[in-house]
Amino acid sequence: MLTIENLFVSVEDKPILKGLDLTVPAGQVHAIMGPNGAGKSTTSYTIAGREGYDVTGGRILLDGEEITGLAPDERAEKGVFLAFQSPIEIPGVSTMNFLKTSVNGMRRRRGQDEYDTVSFLRRVREVARALNVTEDMLKRTLNTGFSGGERKRNEVLQMTLLEPKLAILDETDSGLDIDALRLVSEGVNALRAPDRSFLVITHYQRLLDYIEPDVVHIFADGRIVMSGDKTLARRLEDYGYDTVIAEAA
Ligand code: ADP
Ligand code: MG
Ligand code: MG
Repeated sequence: MLTIENLFVSVEDKPILKGLDLTVPAGQVHAIMGPNGAGKSTTSYTIAGREGYDVTGGRILLDGEEITGLAPDERAEKGVFLAFQSPIEIPGVSTMNFLKTSVNGMRRRRGQDEYDTVSFLRRVREVARALNVTEDMLKRTLNTGFSGGERKRNEVLQMTLLEPKLAILDETDSGLDIDALRLVSEGVNALRAPDRSFLVITHYQRLLDYIEPDVVHIFADGRIVMSGDKTLARRLEDYGYDTVIAEAA
């Protein structure tokens, strides 16, 4: 589903990603862990096509098709979804209107039928209930006055409605209490499908107790330095990055 080949990325002429290779097959969940400043968020922004992240070498493929040079909306159309580390507020736009506009806009571009008002409301309420997103939150201005947990739940609501092929969650667990963590994880697990892949960036093993990864990668200094199964996350939690990486070397 996702293939990253020897990727080099600079931000403001500073090299951040330095030869990143990563393959996430369809249907799998890959976790990325690693110290602060390693380039994890840079990776997610670069996959999503954010401005200012200059690819100076290598390429990114989705479903075998190169997306390296595409605009963010073109990548979204092809099925890339990024849940932000800090979801932004959009004053003056209600959450419900935002959801309907973005979901129907994306369905139109993908050649899918748009939701009419009644069927959209039914679908949103069904997903919102599972994520404990209240009617009040749906009526409020997008993310304004939302707590950290409410914003994250709202991101997963949006992700679910957009039906991505590749969902990237960048520290979606940071700032979540245990109940919100469980709701967000259940939301992600409900989305797991043979034709959908996940890249889950996290600092904490705890999230991976709920979202069981097929592969765990350790990121350091702009690339993946080690990969393993889910027990790798546990070893990192117990012994720290330096020890686990040194042991492998
Ligand atoms: P992580 O998510 O692993 O903590 P980031 O990808 O956020 O790491 O950052 C990697 C490096 O890139 C850091 O040294 C950070 O300071 C730098 N960086 C990231 N974004 C920018 C930016 N917009 N401008 C300047 N430097 C940046
Ligand atoms: Mg960071
Ligand atoms: Mg980050």
